[in-house]
Amino acid sequence: SRRPWVGGNWKAAATKATIGPVVEALNKSGEGFAAEVVIFPSAMHLESTKEALKVDAKIGVQNIHSAEKLGAFTGELVVPQVQDMGLEWVMVGHSERRHLFGEADAVVAEKARVALAAGLKVVVCVGEKLDEREAGQCRAVVVRQLDAVAAVVPAESWAASIVVAYEPVWAIGTGKVASAEQAQEAHKDIREWLEAKIGAAASAACRIVYGGSVKPGNCTGLGAQPDIDGFLVGGAALKPEFVDIIRGAQ
Ligand code: 13P
Repeated sequence: SRRPWVGGNWKAAATKATIGPVVEALNKSGEGFAAEVVIFPSAMHLESTKEALKVDAKIGVQNIHSAEKLGAFTGELVVPQVQDMGLEWVMVGHSERRHLFGEADAVVAEKARVALAAGLKVVVCVGEKLDEREAGQCRAVVVRQLDAVAAVVPAESWAASIVVAYEPVWAIGTGKVASAEQAQEAHKDIREWLEAKIGAAASAACRIVYGGSVKPGNCTGLGAQPDIDGFLVGGAALKPEFVDIIRGAQ
């Protein structure tokens, strides 16, 4: 009964030349998709993508600064700007923010808090690095990342306004997709964490999506798992075949 959710994270990998064919493929599909679709362009492509998309897809930002008001924060985006643009979604805690740009759990959590407080919807990204998985810490890392968010956001946000994206760092951009079993195990851990920490209703309602080398050829097996409610797609979201991944999320 959870509506599938598919995000396309264009990172800093998109140009006008790559965006054009993807938007065209989405528009040509002419569909109301079964899945809720959210595209995350870079800041410089937010407006043009919003204008160009003629299908039922939302636009979100890849990152946000934690200040609540407009102000002197050179190089950042703040929540009032997201609202001014008529956007609904914010991504926080992507592994590249955590590991390339040093964002600690508490920083990610504060960004989520500020966005939710303003009525925006938030994708909270979590996931372990390869050494953490090999040390048997997969569940502990994900729980630590989620606990930091739960400490500062209202409990009711989890069902209504949060999508959790499980993205094992070793599977991002590497072509090494997690097996359906590995992903399901982590998603089940997250579902159980939700039930224990937030409650049964939140656990039943919250979408938990998988990210990391999702392609048209591997999304069906992943999506068939009981606790995988969709995908957060990087590289393949910049190809017209992204439409096939969206259609595959049932
Ligand atoms: P890839 O699909 O390119 O592995 O990226 C996944 C990702 O990080 C989406 O946020």
